[in-house]
Amino acid sequence: MLARIAATCFNWAGSPHPRLEQAGFRRKAVAVARGRQQNLFGGDDPAGPAPWELAEQQDLLAAQIVFNLPAGDTWTYLVPDPLRDLIQPGQRVRAPFGRGNRMETGFCVAVGPPEDYSRRLKSIAEILDREPLAPPEMLELSRWIGERYLCSWGQVLNNVIPAAVRKQAGTRVVQSLQPSAEAPLLMQHLKLTPLQQRVMQVLEQAGRPLRIDELTEAAGCGTGPVTLLRQKGLIEALRERKSSHDLEQEEVAAVEDLQLNEDQAGALQQIQAVIESRAYRTILLHGVTGSGKTEIYIQAIREVVSYGRQAIVLVPEISLTPQTIRRFRSRFPRVAVLHSHLSPSERHWYWQQISRGEVQVVVGARSAVFAPTPHLGLIVIDEEHETTFKQDTTPRYHAREVARRRAEMEQIPLVLGTATPTLESWWRADQGEDLLVSLPRRVSSLPLPPVVIVDIRNDPQCSRGASIGRALENAMRTTLNVGGQVILFLNLRGFAPTLWCRACGESVRCPSCDITLTWHRDRQRSICHFCDYETGAITTCPSCGNAGIRYLGTGTQRLEEEVKAKFGGFRCLRMDSDSMRKPGSHDTALAAFGAGEVDILLGTQMIAKGLDFPNVTLVGVVDADTMLSQPDLRASERTFQLIAQVAGRTGRGDRGGRVFVQTSSPADPAILRAAEHDYLGFATAELRQRKEAEAPPFQVLARVIFRGELEPQVREGAKQVAGHLRQVAEEQKLAVRVLGPAPAPVARLRGMFRYHLQLSASELAPLQQLWNAAASGMPENSTFELTVDVDPVSMR
Ligand code: ADP
Ligand code: ZN
Repeated sequence: MLARIAATCFNWAGSPHPRLEQAGFRRKAVAVARGRQQNLFGGDDPAGPAPWELAEQQDLLAAQIVFNLPAGDTWTYLVPDPLRDLIQPGQRVRAPFGRGNRMETGFCVAVGPPEDYSRRLKSIAEILDREPLAPPEMLELSRWIGERYLCSWGQVLNNVIPAAVRKQAGTRVVQSLQPSAEAPLLMQHLKLTPLQQRVMQVLEQAGRPLRIDELTEAAGCGTGPVTLLRQKGLIEALRERKSSHDLEQEEVAAVEDLQLNEDQAGALQQIQAVIESRAYRTILLHGVTGSGKTEIYIQAIREVVSYGRQAIVLVPEISLTPQTIRRFRSRFPRVAVLHSHLSPSERHWYWQQISRGEVQVVVGARSAVFAPTPHLGLIVIDEEHETTFKQDTTPRYHAREVARRRAEMEQIPLVLGTATPTLESWWRADQGEDLLVSLPRRVSSLPLPPVVIVDIRNDPQCSRGASIGRALENAMRTTLNVGGQVILFLNLRGFAPTLWCRACGESVRCPSCDITLTWHRDRQRSICHFCDYETGAITTCPSCGNAGIRYLGTGTQRLEEEVKAKFGGFRCLRMDSDSMRKPGSHDTALAAFGAGEVDILLGTQMIAKGLDFPNVTLVGVVDADTMLSQPDLRASERTFQLIAQVAGRTGRGDRGGRVFVQTSSPADPAILRAAEHDYLGFATAELRQRKEAEAPPFQVLARVIFRGELEPQVREGAKQVAGHLRQVAEEQKLAVRVLGPAPAPVARLRGMFRYHLQLSASELAPLQQLWNAAASGMPENSTFELTVDVDPVSMR
């Protein structure tokens, strides 16, 4: 509720005023954790007696606090005497906030004397953490993220420090006993019973603090004597937080590093040169599928680990399979894996291990970029082009940009690996900002598979409603008959993606989203893939009441049925998020395919990447048009990437491989270039188009999304905000274009109407300036919510 209100009013009831805040703090923030001096706010100390010197005479101590609120400010609070010696940046505190002085939790980001001692400051009420949750580097990184992605520092900190770490999940307080400092003196003056003497003797001889049960057992007594000794001050209790469990990890047999081929060795050398320079540099490792990029990451990591440093490897969540993890565990004894299915106590346990420097390699999805490694030596992002590296809730950061910033701060290399770089990364490398390292060949010089484009517009089978055309079917037969395996890719799950009314021509939509329902025949449910709304079979049209709904289109379930009907004698396995619900089912399925127990593997994105099975000699892209027809400026790029990635699943053994791409746009440049494995040709042409269209990477975009329950209010609010932004841009002469507002492509989602507008500029700075300058006069309205997405990857 709070967040909702706050999201709509930018100038809301906090005190004191944000702009004064930054000035109101001594510029050189002192007493930063670990005793390091850190200049958080920049600038030189002005000459002459400054207000803070007077404050120092008064001996006041203040803390800068940020809250998990959209208002992106830091607030100054006084630190009351009892907390002076305890407060450190990176701890959470509770403090009265706003007019009502409601207690809010915030992060302390700096400590020092206040500049403006004359102002009445509120005081911190409580410190919540004994140790800082965020080291100084993480504070600085999260501040940068707030600025970069137009959200508040507090929102970022709240997100990057896992809840499990804040709550210290999986730990408990353990009490142990030891002789007090006064014990020797007291023992000379007090008369102790023989039992009490024995207790003291046991404790002294133990040489370490003992738990009460250990002590009573060793001394052969009950708790009575111990309690008395504590009351007399001879024994003191220590309270420590201990992990209540140790994680059991799968034992993985160690594997030797591979002998690199010439291309790989050359690439590794270039990365090593950057590592040795001890400076920041981003390296774009552009290597075709199967060129052995992972082996290069591993050997580059080996280098930094040998200096006692750690490495972070980010992979798309979908690639965090047991195979991937084993690949790293077989090379490095101490690997931490961070993914979304960890229990809170596992997550906390790993976090602690990492921050103590006990982990060599952190492998994880997007948020692992925040892993608290004490001495980071290298960051690797595998499959750099994957959109899941962008977070789709606030803070809407892109892990690649955060990694870049972190690498810059820590003066280390960042390696971006992919067969299909994003045009953003390609452009940077092309301009010489980043270092381009290419691996144009597959390991052991296996050729990339030939790709056949199949025009399905005149295919007799497809015209009759089948999804597998004649050419693909024949190729499958040939492959299967000689014992090869087949992968079929289709990025629509369910049975039929459209329920269509013959009478009125409408499709059946989700009652709360502007999305057609998908029929899932296995569960006999019609499901919205956005909000998970579901209902039973639909026979009459909700629009016109006619009975005559047809179930059109093909999802993976219908494809599976077609495959089973056509290839009765062969074993088929479907992999999508419906069939792979159970934990571990992914691993089991791939193991079965790898062992040759399955002939045809069909599925969604889940099977498009990473799989490395030499016996797969045919890959079919069932419908390349589904990606091409997306209303998105990156539709071509995604189509190219997907075909290239899927094609990468074959031709990995000496039996070679072929790819069939079915489409009704056989002349589309993205499809043609992908079929020729011509990334460079694709990138060059696409960049030219992007330049003409004033699209990224030539322009920086931010998308502002408005949501609300009542359509007219959302539309009106969006218009007002757009007008205000235009006005501020004009007044301040900021070169930012404001486009829209318009209804979002998905105009209704989870019952909320959606509008959006787009800001574009040739650089980030004017865009940031506009947003910050516009914040104060932003039209206030509680009937809609507003979010801003910088560098959006989704336009829906
Ligand atoms: P990419 O990530 O570039 O698609 P991988 O790293 O998955 O490629 O490598 C493809 C396959 O080649 C893997 O099975 C890997 O073990 C193998 N491989 C990589 N480098 C070598 C090498 N130098 N010698 C032999 N096999 C290698
Ligand atoms: Zn829905």
